[in-house]
Amino acid sequence: MESETGGFEFSSSLLKGEELGRRSEELYEEAKRYLPGGVDSPVRSFRAVGGTPLFIERAQGCKIYDVDGRAYIDYVCSWGPLILGHAHPRIVSALQVAAEKGTSYGAPTEKETILARMIVEAVPSIELVRFVNSGTEAVMVAIRLARGFTRRDKIVKFEGCYHGHADSLLVKAGSGALTFGIPDSLGVPAALARDTYLLPFNDIDRARELLDSKGKEIAAVVAEPVAANMGVVPPRPGFLEGLRELTLKHGCLLILDEVITGFRLDYGGAQKRYGVEADLTCLGKIIGGGLPVGAFGGRREIMEQIAPLGQIYQAGTLSGNPLTMTAGIETLKLLRSPGFYESLEERTRHLAEGLREEFGKAGLKGQVNQEGSMLTAFFTEKPVVDYSTAKSSDTALYARFFSRMIQEGIHLAPSQFEAAFLSSAHQEEDIEETIRAARSALRALKQS
Ligand SMILES: *Cc1c(COP(=O)(O)O)cnc(C)c1O
Repeated sequence: MESETGGFEFSSSLLKGEELGRRSEELYEEAKRYLPGGVDSPVRSFRAVGGTPLFIERAQGCKIYDVDGRAYIDYVCSWGPLILGHAHPRIVSALQVAAEKGTSYGAPTEKETILARMIVEAVPSIELVRFVNSGTEAVMVAIRLARGFTRRDKIVKFEGCYHGHADSLLVKAGSGALTFGIPDSLGVPAALARDTYLLPFNDIDRARELLDSKGKEIAAVVAEPVAANMGVVPPRPGFLEGLRELTLKHGCLLILDEVITGFRLDYGGAQKRYGVEADLTCLGKIIGGGLPVGAFGGRREIMEQIAPLGQIYQAGTLSGNPLTMTAGIETLKLLRSPGFYESLEERTRHLAEGLREEFGKAGLKGQVNQEGSMLTAFFTEKPVVDYSTAKSSDTALYARFFSRMIQEGIHLAPSQFEAAFLSSAHQEEDIEETIRAARSALRALKQS
């Protein structure tokens, strides 16, 4: 225990039952005076599950420690970026060295080229890359680029897919927008929403119908190759291949939003895993090693339309930031170690199978969707293949499961419609502990 807590005496500061979460509650009350809802991102609030968000003191490996001195096995992993776990020593020390040299210059550095080269070498469809500061920005600019390149205005997105919060993409969006029942945000001009066609995920026939009739107006089809923002929903065989074929046929661009799946499902992302190549790819999360980041890249002739080479504008004060580039480079280097993805996936499969078994033993209806190192347990008897089946999950039951798991020391996303992420810091014993916790949580649900 001592090595894990780095010498801090967390066990001695553990509070008694009735006092659990007291410091988080105080900090939350104070935060609400200055921040809307006390948070900087709605998904962090516990509104969908009840209770007070945990305020975090520190994190190490697969564990996160709250201000009340409690430790949790963390399956949020900052919503995906931390594939190596928290505070990986190689990344922390590289960041310390980099910070000493200055935190931002607003001028080029070699590190931007190094990380861009690593990305180009990893993802065959990417010839040029531009770094930005968030996944939202990456998808927003990829859409602008697609519209400028094709001289068309319409885009196609899929229900329940989340692509950040740019206006055109906040139509039937996933993640927090789905959790809080505002998939169509106020403030998005109707005209922009009208330029967005919506289709059910995994339904290639509907996509074919739309593209065969409206294809010539459509700049791009944008998709998460594995949906992970309505909970994890893998693509049906042929779905991504079908989108590739249809977009080629109609001269639309295929934008794969790999902000989550990039470097998570494989070093070459979902495109490598499924053998499908995008025209433009959006990245984020893992490539920043836990610092703010986004990137988009793709075919040279398209990417060359962006300023300063072309007429499509995009810029960023802190883009390609040296600290972010450092964390990204160190992360990708570690991901190249042999067997990295195989063992991560193996442990995730073990967790998924364990959860399925516990659902069965508890006599509860559940679906555990797993792809690579991500999974979601849905409280429904229907196989979850799209937005409407994802929404059939009993979110009240999820909320109770979540609270039980928190009490058992397991930190899941405070919403049904999110993925659980594993990192290389999650060891077999952590998986076992999680399955044991789920056993007691699911049994308690069944009994009450
Ligand atoms: C997280 C996410 C985004 C948005 O990235 P931010 O960095 O939060 O702006 C976009 N697309 C997908 C698929 C994501 O999961």
